Amino acid sequence: MTQKKRDYYEVLGVAKTASADEIKKAYRKLALKHHPDRNPDNKEEAETKFKEASEAYEVLSDNEKRANFDKFGHEGLSGYSSRVSSASVDDIFDSFGDIFSDSVFSEFFASHRTDGRSRSRGVSIRCEIIIEFEEAYHGAKKTIHVRRDELCDRCNGSRKEPGTNAVTCAQCAGLGVLVQTHGFFSMRTTCPRCGGEGKFIESPCTKCRGRGKTPVKRELEITIPAGVENESRLRVAGEGEPSLDGAARGDLYCDIYVKPHALFERIGNDIYCEMNISFIHATLGAEIEVPTLGGKTQMKIPPGTQNAQVFRLKGMGFPQISHQDHGDELVRVFIEMPKKLTKRQDELLKEFAKTDSYTASPRKKEKGFFERLKDFF
Ligand SMILES: [Zn+2]
Ligand SMILES: [Zn+2]
Repeated sequence: MTQKKRDYYEVLGVAKTASADEIKKAYRKLALKHHPDRNPDNKEEAETKFKEASEAYEVLSDNEKRANFDKFGHEGLSGYSSRVSSASVDDIFDSFGDIFSDSVFSEFFASHRTDGRSRSRGVSIRCEIIIEFEEAYHGAKKTIHVRRDELCDRCNGSRKEPGTNAVTCAQCAGLGVLVQTHGFFSMRTTCPRCGGEGKFIESPCTKCRGRGKTPVKRELEITIPAGVENESRLRVAGEGEPSLDGAARGDLYCDIYVKPHALFERIGNDIYCEMNISFIHATLGAEIEVPTLGGKTQMKIPPGTQNAQVFRLKGMGFPQISHQDHGDELVRVFIEMPKKLTKRQDELLKEFAKTDSYTASPRKKEKGFFERLKDFF
């Protein structure tokens, strides 16, 4: 513990002029990287690094402490107590809870608590569902299997062996915190024996070994709404893990992946497909059968249609979630020329050629496919 302390800016990898926001970001990144649960092979080293980053953050996120540190270095902080230095990893997360409260962070940390103590809400869990392109169009019901903790049926989540009671923690006398006095200063830390609860379970439940929860496999039916996009996340409220103190259950988040389709490409809520047509269709106009996600449909091609021209079938695209509207289907036509003519066809085309004055000319460079498509939108 007598090792020389590193500069806090260096620890977080930020400049001395870094803004509060930059400091917060840098800390979140490091905390995530060095969380001991993410580093099962070198937990101790990870914990040290994690605490070092937390300590740096504790100082640099506090204007007064930061100013003192800037002026006097580590010496400038000798008058302050630290929430971090002797606390457990989970306590640090509780202390800085608000900066991890959004999105991924809260979920990650919620599900990685190691001490078995509950927060008010149950832990949220995550799953992945892969669906067919058509299922994204029509919507689908999918049966999935999740493994999640449920309240232990022996202790009903109390963590105690039935018939026994928790005793007042001897180390903290039921206070949950330890107060150490150094001269004028006193430092409060969470009691390591009872984890801050003030009570100590002497006879943990034999089934869950004091966790209060046991992992259970559950089969769930998930309703996937029509129009769902690839890589979107569906929240199923209340299908996460239970709370040990009677608060609401966590949620289940399903990450949805949509398989690509052989014929269709999705662009926003529109779908795109390509059709081969004959030069007769293109020159004289025609009605052709086109695939759509709702089945086949007829599409009119006007006389004089050009190669690679795009037609729009209104309302044949994906439904918009929470809207009545649908996107469109865009059909690009490619003209195929006959490779062989019958004698009669040959005669007719030669006849046609006599009436035609078309002269070949150099073609200007074309825009790329995506640029052309952009033009279309
Ligand atoms: Zn139990
Ligand atoms: Zn205690």
